[in-house]
Amino acid sequence: MKKPPLLWLNVSVFLITFLVALVGVPWYLISVGFVPSLWIAFAVLAVWAGISITAGYHRLWSHRTYDAHWSVRLIFALGGALALQNSALHWSSDHREHHKHVDHIDDDPYSISRGFWFAHIGWMLREYQSQRYSDYRNAKDLQNDPIVMWQHKHYLTLTLMMNIGVPILIGLLSGHFWGALLIAGFLRVVFGHHSTFLINSLAHVWGRQTYTDRNSARDNGVLALFTFGEGYHNFHHIFSGDYRNGVRWYHFDPTKWLIAVLSWCKLAGNLKRANPYQIEKARLDMMMKRLSLRKHSMAERLQQEYDVILDEMRDYYQSRKRWVARRRSIRALKHGHDMQRVQSDSSA
Ligand SMILES: [Zn+2]
Ligand SMILES: [Zn+2]
Repeated sequence: MKKPPLLWLNVSVFLITFLVALVGVPWYLISVGFVPSLWIAFAVLAVWAGISITAGYHRLWSHRTYDAHWSVRLIFALGGALALQNSALHWSSDHREHHKHVDHIDDDPYSISRGFWFAHIGWMLREYQSQRYSDYRNAKDLQNDPIVMWQHKHYLTLTLMMNIGVPILIGLLSGHFWGALLIAGFLRVVFGHHSTFLINSLAHVWGRQTYTDRNSARDNGVLALFTFGEGYHNFHHIFSGDYRNGVRWYHFDPTKWLIAVLSWCKLAGNLKRANPYQIEKARLDMMMKRLSLRKHSMAERLQQEYDVILDEMRDYYQSRKRWVARRRSIRALKHGHDMQRVQSDSSA
């Protein structure tokens, strides 16, 4: 089958940022050394961009799991432009399709059924769903949010300002122009991209299916560590209306903690939680399913053992029967010989 044409802009963005970070950052570290201020800038921008995707693009705009004050939405809109992952409107529209058609080979925009590479990044490299590229009918509610529409309209300007303007500013302030561009610019973008993309790829193959096995999503505590808590993807796919992804208090989910803090500060409200009974029921149902599968496979193994023992027993008794019969015939033969000898002795 012929592949759809390449999206050269996307290919160039991913390839250039990746190669510059891969070559430029080690070169900078060797020739200039470790500059703490640049790494602080890296961390601050990485958290701003990352949390804008998880708390903003994902839990606020894609799933409407809470409401946020305009100032928070503005910070998320700028952070989203910094993350370089398209506008909130476009991102959320894609993500709603992902939830609606999860794992479907054609309709899920980043379906894991088409392989790890496709779900991770491949889906953005070619015109796979060009028919719905600017079809935002599944995000009509977001079109009423002036901040979403402002960001969508000025996305290119905003993303250039945030990804080139801000690192240049940091470079000028710190006196490390190239270092700021490489570390707070390129490396930070690549890190943000791939940690988000891992949710579409790795979180659909590696981890536990705690709440449902009706889709490929997995709960993965390790992934949650560098995705601001988005690793509990199995829970998220079944209870996508819940503002938490890590539902237990000890689950590492900084995004849910941030939303809770925002709500204490009256900057967020209407935080939605799934019904605890339904959550526990889903978990128990999966436990029962796993147990009955185990029981089934144990019964199957027992049946196999039983069949083998029966076969061996049958063989044993058959050969024993043959052996007894042979012994009997040898004895009978010997008896015949003895009788003959006795007869011939007595006649002699
Ligand atoms: Zn989601
Ligand atoms: Zn998913």
